[in-house]
Amino acid sequence: MKLTAEMLEFIKKDALERFLRYVKINTTSNEESGTNPSSKNQFELTNLLKDELRSLGVDVVVDEFCYLYATLPASDGVKAPPISFIAHIDTSPAVSGENVKPVIHRNYNGGEIRFPDDPGLVLSPKDSPELLEFIGQDIITASGTTLLGADDKAGIAAIMTMAAVFKKFSQLKHPEIRICFTPDEEIGAGTAKIDISKLGKIGYTFDGGMIGEIENECFDAMGAKIKFTGLNVHPGYAKNKMINAAGIAARFYAMLPEYETPERTEVREGFFHLLKISGDESEAVLQFIIRDFEHARNEKRAELLNSLKDFFEKKYPGLKIDVEIKEQYRNFKEVLDKTPEVTDFAIKAIEMAGIKPIRRAIRGGTDGARLSFMGIPTPNVFAGGLLFHSKKEWIPVVAFEKAVEVGINICSLWAEK
Ligand SMILES: [Zn+2]
Repeated sequence: MKLTAEMLEFIKKDALERFLRYVKINTTSNEESGTNPSSKNQFELTNLLKDELRSLGVDVVVDEFCYLYATLPASDGVKAPPISFIAHIDTSPAVSGENVKPVIHRNYNGGEIRFPDDPGLVLSPKDSPELLEFIGQDIITASGTTLLGADDKAGIAAIMTMAAVFKKFSQLKHPEIRICFTPDEEIGAGTAKIDISKLGKIGYTFDGGMIGEIENECFDAMGAKIKFTGLNVHPGYAKNKMINAAGIAARFYAMLPEYETPERTEVREGFFHLLKISGDESEAVLQFIIRDFEHARNEKRAELLNSLKDFFEKKYPGLKIDVEIKEQYRNFKEVLDKTPEVTDFAIKAIEMAGIKPIRRAIRGGTDGARLSFMGIPTPNVFAGGLLFHSKKEWIPVVAFEKAVEVGINICSLWAEK
């Protein structure tokens, strides 16, 4: 069913108001705390969302780990499986999220955007060419000293407004909806304490960037730790005796292909990324992350590390190298490909909202990938923000209504199936 002018007007106003309210609450996660949630302040937004859902008449709980679960029963006669809509509460610890003051720049003219609290800071199409697609429209940024938090409060606002729309306009058909807001996504712990029995059979995270984006691929990820055990001897009398672990570790790293590093790769290219090098003559350690979209290509990288181990151990008798390789996460495309409708409906929903879908492969991980491997196929849909994790983070106001429309369209496609 097509959205009426009244519905669109409601969506526009409701989503913007929610977004402006949510970004003002500090929800920075904390990599160091070791607790769940990683920071207590995330409860402030989660509890507010709980109250707001309750006042809409939606069943909702917040657990001790700061996960919010809410259920909207299916419309009469709709038999599709329950769908989860997922977004994250926290913002990146990379930039302060304290005292965020959203600024609406009306009628963007295509030039530079300045920030009231930092006159030296400039946002322009040089930083973000996508700005040029929103000339004449309203853009929201922070005030110059913090991030904005559109990642992922734009996703939260879209899902909240969608719930409000379904409550207000019961003629819009939808399957059972299971909303889930998670803490700590930005520090890789968004699914750490998730109760998947409370989620639907399929899911959509609203945590992508540019309007139109749909992501159904992410990196295949491994970690490698290589330990070199050498032998230290007085350097004046070391000939044919010393085995310098630190020096050999440096030579080992130098044997890896220089063009396969994060700073030399993009799009679908993979890499070795040296995270840390430490050591002395007796012992040295190289720590890597290994990334690609193809698992087989990462296995080749693991083989290369093992063959270099053999080579160096032969070259330096007495040297010992331990190679430890761990799988971190997998590309979720292999799961999503088994139920292509989940992604296809999202693409169709984007087209129904009058937008051209942009398929992207995430050069990183996503909670959707973890959920997919837990049995809930979950592609990632745009939330509309750009330049995440920076003081220049921005979002066009139109993104909110488009994300809500896409959510509603996804529901109607499943309801009509
Ligand atoms: Zn995010």
